[in-house]
Amino acid sequence: MPTRAAMNIIWGMGSAVKRPSAELEQLVALLAAGDVFVLTGAGASTDSGSPDYRDERGAWKHRAPMLFREFTATLAARRRYWARSLVGYTRLTRARPNAAHHALVELERRGGLSLTVTQNVDGLHEAAGSREVLDLHGRIDRVVCLGCRRAMPRAELQTALLRENPDWAERHADVTPDGDAELGAVDYSAFHIVDCAHCGGMLKPDVVFFGEGVPRSHVERAFGALERSRALLVVGSSLMVFSGFRFARRAAALGLPIAIVNRGVTRADELSGLRLRGNAGEILTSAIAGLAGAGTAAQRVF
Ligand SMILES: [Zn+2]
Repeated sequence: MPTRAAMNIIWGMGSAVKRPSAELEQLVALLAAGDVFVLTGAGASTDSGSPDYRDERGAWKHRAPMLFREFTATLAARRRYWARSLVGYTRLTRARPNAAHHALVELERRGGLSLTVTQNVDGLHEAAGSREVLDLHGRIDRVVCLGCRRAMPRAELQTALLRENPDWAERHADVTPDGDAELGAVDYSAFHIVDCAHCGGMLKPDVVFFGEGVPRSHVERAFGALERSRALLVVGSSLMVFSGFRFARRAAALGLPIAIVNRGVTRADELSGLRLRGNAGEILTSAIAGLAGAGTAAQRVF
């Protein structure tokens, strides 16, 4: 067990941290055992300036994101998407890793994690320094051509979009987690989209849209890692989308303990024996302080 001094460090974070100590101790023990499979969602990035998709009850905060078939079906939908994306992109590039990302880097550095799988497309785990990361839903900083499958940096496309649509640069809007912006009633018909410079094909952000499947290779790699893990730790995801929920279901089938760190309810609460409600960065930072304070004592438990 941590010493009293160490526990004071853990709990000395002010009145914002209101959790029974038993839950944090359980999380510390779970992390001390090692081989933890981490699944992160939008809640891990909210302190980085990325807005969350859902509120604490799991309901949409914004209108639902654009569906894949809507994007590919009509020029009007792509105009609307890229116009909003052009406006939202600047804010997206300003996002920086927060305490939750840094805590997961530290846990990986200590050898405690098997794999970090993220539903986020912001690349902030890699930016923070995590090495073993699977971007389940792709990366918003890349664009892919649906014709020739060539990939290009999103920054290059931004330059091309601004060249074609210079008057859109000064617009301001609220931004959703995938870089889409809320522009309200706007006429998009004059917006010029940019096609692939190599084949003239349709460009799409290299992210998995709603209504589009996660690549099978991603799922297989993640399931393989989960099967070699001791526990599943969910950070900042309501798991309302099946692409994430399936890992909780598989972990439960494997008999692995499931810990959930999230602000609100999740779809996997029934499957989890350990739920910590609150800010992901604060809770994980406290857990690391607990690991440091517990030292080898926590490891002797296992
Ligand atoms: Zn192409």
